[in-house]
This record gives sequence, structure tokens and C-alpha cells, in this order.
Amino acid sequence: MTPEQSKSDCIFCKIIGGEIASNIIYRDKDVVIFPDINPVAPVHLLVVPIKHIASLADMEESDAALVGKMVAAANKVAREQGLFKNGYRLTVNCGAYAGQVVWHLHMHLMGGRPLKWEN
Ligand code: AMP
Ligand code: ZN
Repeated sequence: MTPEQSKSDCIFCKIIGGEIASNIIYRDKDVVIFPDINPVAPVHLLVVPIKHIASLADMEESDAALVGKMVAAANKVAREQGLFKNGYRLTVNCGAYAGQVVWHLHMHLMGGRPLKWEN
């Protein structure tokens, strides 16, 4: 299911490594959070593990704690961004049918307006 993509060609690895500029608003030893370049909501951030994992389907059991850390970091930033009052969405697109285009695991953190459910 995962297209061939080496870590060295990965746009999110390049952002994490500083090769491509981005406004990283959160970083710890496992997770970074930066704005989506094409936001669909007033707040639209990407929650990205520093470890290159191509998709959610490629995570291993040993990555479970890392995925939990992504959720915890997303919650922290959601609170800082003032999203706790009205709510927010945390989404993973996994694979072609879900519309995944960047093959480095990420969660979309979206909020700031009422969101419709599209499928
Ligand atoms: P998806 O793989 O469908 O979950 O979505 C990938 C997301 O990455 C899209 O919403 C893009 O707008 C976003 N994106 C692609 N390139 C960049 C970039 N250089 N910086 C920030 N976001 C990006
Ligand atoms: Zn990567």
C-alpha cells in the first residue's frame, strides 16, 4: 500500500531536519507540530513524529507510545491555540483511499470553525 519513498526524499523529514523552512510551533524529542501549507481551517496544524514512519499502517506495536505522544502533543497545542472551548479534529489519512499524499505519518489538527464530516 505504501509507495516507495526513501527517507531522504521525504518532505516532512526535510522540515524536521531544517532543510525546508517551516514555522515549527512545537518540538520535543519525539514530535514536531507545524502549520499545514494549505490550511482548510483557521487552525490547521500537522502533528508529525520525528521518526520516519510512512503511514499509520506501517506503525509497529513498539510505536504505540509514540502515537500516544503525538496525541498528547496535539492536545497541548490545541489548548494553547484556544481550541478546547469549541472542540477540534485530529485526523489521520492512511493510504490512497483516505487521500494520503505525504508518506510520513502525520495527524491533522484542525479547528477554529465548525467542521463538516466529508467522506
Ligand atoms: P495527507 O497526506 O493527505 O494527510 O496530507 C498532507 C498534508 O501535507 C496536506 O494537507 C498538505 O497541504 C500538507 N503539506 C504538504 N507539503 C507541506 C509543507 N511543505 N509544509 C506544510 N504542509 C505541507
Ligand atoms: Zn519522513
